Amino acid sequence: MLGFITTNNLWWIAIASLIALTATIVAFRFTTRLWFTKPHQAKAWLTGGLSTTTLGAWFLYAICIYVFNDNATVSALTTALSIACLILITLLISMLDMFLRAKKTSSQHSRENLSQMAMVDTLTQLPNRRALMQHLEAATRRSERSGVSLAIAFIDIDNFKNINDSLGHHVGDQVLQEVAKCLVAAVRGCDEVARIGGDEFIALIEDVKYDEDAVTIVDRMVNSIREVSIANQIDLNVSASIGVAMFPRDGNIHQIVSAADAAMYRAKKDGKNQFRFFDADIAMTSDQLLEIQHDLKNALANDELKLHYQLKIDSITREPVGAEALLRWEHPVKGTLLPPDFMPAAERFGLSYAMNLWVIEEACRTLHLLNYLHIPFSIALNISHQQLRNNNLVNEIKQLLKRFNLPLASLIFEITESAAVKNKLLFNKQLERFKEAGLKVSLDDFGTQPSSLAYLQHLDISELKLDHTFTANVENDYKIRGIIQAIIELAHVLELNVVAEGVETESQRQTLAEIGCDQMQGFLISRPVSEENLVHLLKKLSTHFESGGEFSMDELKNL
Ligand code: C2E
Ligand code: MG
Ligand code: MG
Repeated sequence: MLGFITTNNLWWIAIASLIALTATIVAFRFTTRLWFTKPHQAKAWLTGGLSTTTLGAWFLYAICIYVFNDNATVSALTTALSIACLILITLLISMLDMFLRAKKTSSQHSRENLSQMAMVDTLTQLPNRRALMQHLEAATRRSERSGVSLAIAFIDIDNFKNINDSLGHHVGDQVLQEVAKCLVAAVRGCDEVARIGGDEFIALIEDVKYDEDAVTIVDRMVNSIREVSIANQIDLNVSASIGVAMFPRDGNIHQIVSAADAAMYRAKKDGKNQFRFFDADIAMTSDQLLEIQHDLKNALANDELKLHYQLKIDSITREPVGAEALLRWEHPVKGTLLPPDFMPAAERFGLSYAMNLWVIEEACRTLHLLNYLHIPFSIALNISHQQLRNNNLVNEIKQLLKRFNLPLASLIFEITESAAVKNKLLFNKQLERFKEAGLKVSLDDFGTQPSSLAYLQHLDISELKLDHTFTANVENDYKIRGIIQAIIELAHVLELNVVAEGVETESQRQTLAEIGCDQMQGFLISRPVSEENLVHLLKKLSTHFESGGEFSMDELKNL
């Protein structure tokens, strides 16, 4: 059978070698495929592999017969050895191939997992902001094609920070998961709900022919969120505020989320736990907010923030005892703006941290200057809700006092009663830190909250500031006068200093002094003034005291 090879025909040898080589390669391929073949296909690949190996072996043997001059034993041995080597090489290559494939598959899987994670919020398993933006793009395109509106509902949980602060993050997380479930249940199958961060969700409601269609759905959302309950949390009252904007009526793809956000903000302002549709009035407010955001960013950099100081005097000696620092924004176009005009926007746009830190630093700088001028003084600083949440606040204050070489008692920190009552846990924690550091705290706007007087005995504070409303009615309302007197007496038992705010008339001052109020502050004494005017005022007052002691309010005004 091998006779044709024994002839010295080199062509046949070449063809035989080629066939042997090809068969070997094909056998390789068949065998490597075997690793990854499903059981029912394995038989076919095995048969193919064996046939081609046999073919390759047969031609290899033929070549050996030629090379070893018809010596069958040597040829058989060489062929067997070569085949064994080939099987070994095949085995090694297929193992390497298997290893590389497995690696490729696993990195493909982890890539898929990563991209899945990048699109999904891990807590609620809802699409995240990134995924939402993609869905929004597709949904607006569909809306443009069909000519039917798309509603964007911006959902924000009311007082979520309080839930987190007072009940802990584990309860906060559960609330988010429950709210997510409510929202998904409230929309239709074709709609999309995403969590875009913190306590904010967005629902894309497609095919909305009339606003009423969206009303039914957002109403369902508001009502079902009210029903949210968490095991062992009886007092938990969850609610949400929702803003709705319609595409394309209320804005293009770049404006529509901000429009829904602005409507949500209005729903919050109007009392929370409700929904509001975007309208022309909201559009104006949101434009103003955007403008303030833009201007505020420049305010710090351009040195437009100023700290003004309002004197506090001793009720009996009328000697200045300190001042309250009040923030002003010298807006290049709008003139001087007061804190209520811009602080809410600064907090909303995350710009209040830098602003608050600047206030403390600036007050320290003023105190340093007064020390240099040998005018002993103390400054009261207002602490915002947001600052209460800053665990590092006391450290930051201590660092600044150290940097300006100031005694701890030169600053007193005013925390409003409303902030204290709303965030009791947080307030107490922060109060502990202030006490540990030896810093004084004053309860500002006292009397505006329905809090019990007995609550005062548990607070480690140094001062009470009676709210304006008390001062305004102290002369002509004998009941108010009685209440103020009782507060002052109790405060004195608790060794607290009492300051009356908003003293505008001489008779208010006299009445307050008579019923034992320790210190006073108000337009009667001085309006808030710049640092330069404060220094001027204090210099004159100290000369006045050195020469004559007491002085009348008229004298103070004329300084
Ligand atoms: P507040 O701490 O109760 O400050 C007293 C406010 O009453 C000041 O208003 C002051 O100008 C005003 N005022 C003083 N005397 C009288 C008076 O005789 N009659 C009347 N009607 N008002 C008087 P302002 O400067 O507009 O500040 C308002 C609030 O803004 C402050 O209330 C305080 O809570 C907050 N605030 C001011 N500056 C800062 C600050 O630097 N940081 C923080 N977080 N809040 C600040
Ligand atoms: Mg204050
Ligand atoms: Mg006050």
